[in-house]
Amino acid sequence: MNSFDAVVVGAGFAGIHQLYKLRELGLSVKLFEKAPEVGGTWYWNQYPNAASDSPSELYRYSWDKEVLLNYPWPTHVVPQKESQAYLKHMVKRHGLQKHMQFSRELKSASFQDSSWTLRFSTGETVKTTYLIAATGAFNKPNWPKIPGCERFSGEQYHSGIWPEQRDLKGKRVGVIGNGSSGAQILVGLAKQSGAKQIVALQREAAYVSITMTSFGKELEINCPLGYGFKPLTTLTFDVSAEERERVYEAAWNDVMAFSFIYKTFSDVLTSDAANKEVCNFIKRKITQIVKDPAKRARLTPEPDALYAKRPVCCASYYEIFNQDNVDIVNFQMTPLVGITEKGIQTEEKLQELDVLVYATGFETDGSWATIDISGPSQTLKQHWAEGATSYLGVMEAGFPNFFMVVGPQSAVTNMPPLIEGQVNFITGMISKAEALQKENEANRKKSILITATQEAEDGYMAECRSLAEGSIYYRDKSFLFADNHTSRKSSKNGRNVLWYFGGLNKYLDKVQEVIDTDYRGFTFAS
Ligand code: NAP
Repeated sequence: MNSFDAVVVGAGFAGIHQLYKLRELGLSVKLFEKAPEVGGTWYWNQYPNAASDSPSELYRYSWDKEVLLNYPWPTHVVPQKESQAYLKHMVKRHGLQKHMQFSRELKSASFQDSSWTLRFSTGETVKTTYLIAATGAFNKPNWPKIPGCERFSGEQYHSGIWPEQRDLKGKRVGVIGNGSSGAQILVGLAKQSGAKQIVALQREAAYVSITMTSFGKELEINCPLGYGFKPLTTLTFDVSAEERERVYEAAWNDVMAFSFIYKTFSDVLTSDAANKEVCNFIKRKITQIVKDPAKRARLTPEPDALYAKRPVCCASYYEIFNQDNVDIVNFQMTPLVGITEKGIQTEEKLQELDVLVYATGFETDGSWATIDISGPSQTLKQHWAEGATSYLGVMEAGFPNFFMVVGPQSAVTNMPPLIEGQVNFITGMISKAEALQKENEANRKKSILITATQEAEDGYMAECRSLAEGSIYYRDKSFLFADNHTSRKSSKNGRNVLWYFGGLNKYLDKVQEVIDTDYRGFTFAS
């Protein structure tokens, strides 16, 4: 059986960076990836119009900054192909390919005698001291069990398993879901695919802001929340109605995504009244843009709906509904009955379709929960019986030398800078363990095992819950709390808090504090 100091799973931003850092430490490392090539999210999500909607996604990422800044990014909103090409470029530039193996899905990991034994879909088994799952938070597709879904005779796709171009020319396509993926797919289908008819199938209308595609470099590196904006100080009702309108209009036309929360007023996420002002502005935009009154009504969020989901930002979203071949079904107005052989049945009519696209998101704790992980005293499924937990989003109490990048309760933020912070954190811990190990070798002791304590995990979870409950996001259902999908429900009011809501800076400060206190909450024992 092959044996490594460290195994990294996943070849997206996180896995590639982690592989590089561990190689720098001089360890023997192998990266295994389920897909046949590099990319992670940017391999699996090749649906029409797939792109990074947060234009500043990369700006704070500092690995090889020179290359990053000089890379020929085509627009401010980076298309999927470009992100994947950048990752391929980094792999080549740092000679990482030879440390990677593709088309291998990790099926199980079990801890015995101070190391992990891994089994892959190919039947191969390998041993490793450190296991780093860089498999991502948005990895296992959520396929909702809509009555009759197995009867549909057309093609069915999920946005998150779309690794190639598909010919939808002349087809009638229904898209379930209107989060970030759904909005992008709808625009992509309407503009590029030549589909005969496109029908948005929505459980609730969303607030969608636009993002422009011009490239700008005026990003604020120290944005506390990690999205490239300067911190705000003005409150919504500190200014006149005219000034508010001017600020919202500027946000609407801004090149950056998320402008409504980070470039208008400081209380949009903390005050209902302020939040509603943003809602009303976007509703006015819907009224101005969407010409057909019936479509407009179906696209307009309910009167009480707050701007309280992760913002959906997508250029041309409302405009496409002015095309004759684009329609919307709102299940709040015309309730869904189920799926038939021919399409979607609502209480009003049968919507005949050739293709059904599920843009219904992901099991947020899915990528780790699907791997059969057995620690020394329990399985990860047992540890997560009431929902996914972690210490600082990187480790589980009782699972030695097992790390996650963007594990549950990571900060809600831009992914690359979060990934970089976590990769450095994990590398630092492994570096310390290796140094201790060298001393141990002289004393002929066993390997050093890094573990998070249960007390540290519980304390962090309590903090995450308190931050989440104080956030406006907690007031709406969304993937942030696994409301739509996971089978592992928390006994406390049935909701899982899957993210840290304190912002990127606060999260990274916490991590730094842990490092500065000799990794408080972690033990390094042999
Ligand atoms: P998502 O945000 O979880 O959205 C899922 C959508 O599916 C929601 O509209 C949800 O409706 C709907 N849905 C779920 N179950 C349903 C059911 N049973 N019946 C009808 N509708 C159902 O998933 P996503 O859009 O794939 O986004 C996942 C993550 O990736 C998010 O963090 C997102 O921001 C990120 N993302 C980022 C980019 C980027 O450019 N950076 C692009 C795409 C995605 P409700 O709203 O009613 O729950």
